[in-house]
Amino acid sequence: MRYKFCAHCGAALAPSEAFAPQQCAVCGTWHFHNSKPCAGALVIQNKKVLLAQRGVEPFKGFWDIPGGFLEAGEHPEAGAVRELLEETGLEIRLNGLLGMYMDTYGEGNFYTLNVYYVAEVVSGTPRATDDVAKLEWFALDELPNEFAFEHEYRVMEDLKTCLFKK
Ligand SMILES: [Zn+2]
Repeated sequence: MRYKFCAHCGAALAPSEAFAPQQCAVCGTWHFHNSKPCAGALVIQNKKVLLAQRGVEPFKGFWDIPGGFLEAGEHPEAGAVRELLEETGLEIRLNGLLGMYMDTYGEGNFYTLNVYYVAEVVSGTPRATDDVAKLEWFALDELPNEFAFEHEYRVMEDLKTCLFKK
């Protein structure tokens, strides 16, 4: 990822290494290419985890962990709760941090930092909304073979370790 123009004044930016910070020679504004923060939740019920089939590109039709990009200033906990409500219609309670996972998005255009929590349902029944095609509960030994994003395989392995420890 590199920008061609300054987001502040519109001047052309000098070519740079991909993902290297770029400073505008005209107004001095820095352009960083930090990983974009995302948050999601592994909602557990009856020893099954709720997964979402993506209804939009990229990876339309692949299975995914409900979650999404954080908004400006939003805490990952709040983001996970908000995304789950938007995508599944469920009100959830977070029961702890599972971990943080790096990945790329959109053909490697940018990096993501994905924060995941283990959660339970407080109220509601799963209803696919927003950019989700379908929701389904999966036993941990019968997970789908294909996930949308590479890091989600690691998340599932960590989830199994986390739940089997208890
Ligand atoms: Zn500028």
